[in-house]
Amino acid sequence: MNDYYDIIIVGAGPAGSMAAQYAAREGASVALFERDRRVGSPVRCAEGVSHKSLETLVEIKSSWIAQEITGAVFHSPHGKTVKINTDQIGYVLHREIFDHDLAQMAVAQGAHLYTRANVTGLIKENGKIKGITLDHRGETFDIKCKIIIAADGVESRVGRWAGIKTRTAMKDIETCAQITASPIDVAPTDIHFYFSRDLAPGGYIWIFPKGNRVANVGLGISGEYTEKSPMEYLDQFLTKFPNVSALTTTIGSVPCSLPLEKVVADGFMIVGDAAHHANPMTGGGIINGMIGGKIAGEIAGKSIKENDRSERRLSEYSKTFNKIEGNKLKKFYRIKKVIYKFSDQELNQIADRVLEMPPEKQTLINIFRIALVKKPTLVLDVIKLFTT
Ligand SMILES: Cc1cc2nc3c(=O)[nH]c(=O)nc-3n(C[C@H](O)[C@H](O)[C@H](O)COP(=O)(O)OP(=O)(O)OC[C@H]3O[C@@H](n4cnc5c(N)ncnc54)[C@H](O)[C@@H]3O)c2cc1C
Repeated sequence: MNDYYDIIIVGAGPAGSMAAQYAAREGASVALFERDRRVGSPVRCAEGVSHKSLETLVEIKSSWIAQEITGAVFHSPHGKTVKINTDQIGYVLHREIFDHDLAQMAVAQGAHLYTRANVTGLIKENGKIKGITLDHRGETFDIKCKIIIAADGVESRVGRWAGIKTRTAMKDIETCAQITASPIDVAPTDIHFYFSRDLAPGGYIWIFPKGNRVANVGLGISGEYTEKSPMEYLDQFLTKFPNVSALTTTIGSVPCSLPLEKVVADGFMIVGDAAHHANPMTGGGIINGMIGGKIAGEIAGKSIKENDRSERRLSEYSKTFNKIEGNKLKKFYRIKKVIYKFSDQELNQIADRVLEMPPEKQTLINIFRIALVKKPTLVLDVIKLFTT
């Protein structure tokens, strides 16, 4: 291991690996540090992504795809279902393979990846960030660099060490519990969402099939609405499936807040969940992490060539990200605040209204339209979201 790299990236999730790949492509020397012993494991994710978004970022490999998805079934509190068929294909991934391959792509471009490499602090000289301290397989190292990219996920500490406010208010953290359930008999091409204050207050339950009678079954809840743990809610829901076993059990959280206002400083950038770039309405953060990582890596690499690591130069990352995704995230946040306040009775009324429509009219946009009649304050945000 060298004692200097142009760019150090902390965390080899989708955001960090994309940043490493694109920084290395610009010719910078790049080190990617991952504290776990294997990139992509353990998986703390329901693994859902849309084909359309993913294909703009990488060439999709069949080995990443556990299951192709063509339909979404929404369950109301009173047990009615609205099924949306879409021409927008989605995937449930094998994230352990997917994350691993993204890291491999970074390495193929010349980045150096170290696993069991826990970044423990920042080196600062005269208040300026100059590098990191590292625990690698029990040994400690001081490594200097010009730019650090914090891609250390939802529990991010690196941003805080850099003096950036990264705290998420409790009300904006979705705490999640999930099992990989089997044997489970659901149509393999449909994902399921259950909305109900009783089942998942301030969030929703998902079933994402992985084929072969396996599915990710999980939920996210908001601390704003309940003090019970997500596992208690999940156990309650799983009584519907008395014969399933849990192949894996996961507890995790997603920052469903506004994106961080400040994600760059001199020689410093934050990407992915660490920057609160997950969609606050759905909790999905894989694609946004990849988008942010790609932009940040490319700009960091260019800044090294230009010998300009200033906040002003690096802020091209935040400007570009906000134009593509960040401004949408703000609208999603406002929509979430209204949607998760719907009572079960209101959700039932929406489901009943949608089911009165002919099947071909039962679309996502029509569900939104009916919801809008109930909460007219949503109108502007939804219009802007679908038109910008
Ligand atoms: C239960 C659950 C279900 C989800 N389902 C979906 C879904 O279906 N679709 C979707 O798009 N998103 C989903 N998400 C969100 C998604 O998992 C994240 O948004 C995504 O992983 C963010 O990528 P990232 O690279 O920013 O962070 P991560 O994938 O969390 O990667 C961060 C990496 O940094 C490493 N790290 C942390 N600290 C250090 C350190 N000090 N030194 C070295 N390494 C460090 C960690 O070990 C980790 O590997 C889900 C999340 C949860 C919890």
